[in-house]
Amino acid sequence: MRKQTVRDIDVKGKRVLVRVDFNVPLEKGTGRILDDLRIRAVLPTIQYLRGEGSRLVLCSHLGRPRGQVVESLRLAPVAERLGEFLGVPVAAARDCIGAEAQEAVDALRPGDVLLLENLRFHPEEEANKPGFAGQLASLGEVFVNDAFGAAHRAHASTAGVARYLPAVAGFLMEKEIDYLNRAVGNPDRPFAAIIGGAKISDKIAVLRNLLTKADALMVGGGMANTFLKARGCQVGESLVEDDQLDSARSIMEEADSQGVPLLLPTDAVAADRFAADANCRTVPVGDVPEGWRIMDIGPDTLSTLRDALEDCRTVVWNGPMGVAEFSQFAEGSLGLALTLAELDATTIVGGGETVALVQQAGLEERFSHVSTGGGATLEFLEGKELPGVAALLDKA
Ligand code: ADP
Ligand code: MG
Repeated sequence: MRKQTVRDIDVKGKRVLVRVDFNVPLEKGTGRILDDLRIRAVLPTIQYLRGEGSRLVLCSHLGRPRGQVVESLRLAPVAERLGEFLGVPVAAARDCIGAEAQEAVDALRPGDVLLLENLRFHPEEEANKPGFAGQLASLGEVFVNDAFGAAHRAHASTAGVARYLPAVAGFLMEKEIDYLNRAVGNPDRPFAAIIGGAKISDKIAVLRNLLTKADALMVGGGMANTFLKARGCQVGESLVEDDQLDSARSIMEEADSQGVPLLLPTDAVAADRFAADANCRTVPVGDVPEGWRIMDIGPDTLSTLRDALEDCRTVVWNGPMGVAEFSQFAEGSLGLALTLAELDATTIVGGGETVALVQQAGLEERFSHVSTGGGATLEFLEGKELPGVAALLDKA
């Protein structure tokens, strides 16, 4: 079902409550904003509403204050950064409900932007308490949800407020839903999914769902080790989830029975310990030296991936191919990122660490869609309906 967007509803001159995901990474100690992708990502929605003369009441969470005020998690610095992008000051309220919030909202003129204080300073936000949702909703006349990254949570500001206000998607939310829906629902084929990262247990449901949608599945990163072990490879000290060996086996069987090729690494960069400056060696996956561990995919695997991807028309990638935070073990992931950047296909990348890697490599612009969701993207790929999306009005 398609969802109504900010274009489908009258927002002219109205007070519009906008849920954004300004949960940006902060530098420990200084509180400096390390990455403002999530701020930049909602600028189109904010600019559109300003153009319509709306009074914008933005709300977001930041970090995990667990229901109390944490000074280092105030949103004022984010309001300042947003103001720099917009070229106008953005007011920051000291609370997200109550008299202080109300006063700040009352002071808004058409086109003005206010950022409410961190929603998670109140325990009622995550508990999705109707009273809190009602108070929040009373600050607006229309609700716009542009916080795709929080859409997998049924919180007061994502699902609860939609009971009190007409609720529509912002442009970022619309784009995320469109790309991901098309990829898992109606992709241009062949469609390949590449899943990596640390743990198979985090992504087992994603693998299961994509197995029924994709024309090929590729598994890399730490989670591939459990598959390799299940196939009888000696993987030394590699990260393995022994309690997931059966899951790995059943996924391989399902892939077999559905005729979906499931590609696993054939060679690996192995290291003598888990460290940036470890000694390393490229070996076939069956020949990891005793006491060593797999840290990245090797060049043969990368070239197999390249060949397999060549004719693909849609590719979804989540999860690094190796311990990419150590440059010595980032080549597999970087090689894959470059391959996808050069592909003439719809390319979608998601996942916190995977997206960071693509950004650091300067390849962000060369993907069709860089998803801002971590958990939300994964749950979407699992085939789940996200509560923050479900709460929005359906298109007629
Ligand atoms: P994303 O955030 O993109 O969804 P994940 O959080 O699932 O990705 O996985 C990223 C983590 O996977 C990184 O911390 C990385 O060190 C780890 N990882 C990848 N390959 C390996 C490996 N071979 N051994 C151990 N850890 C790995
Ligand atoms: Mg991660």
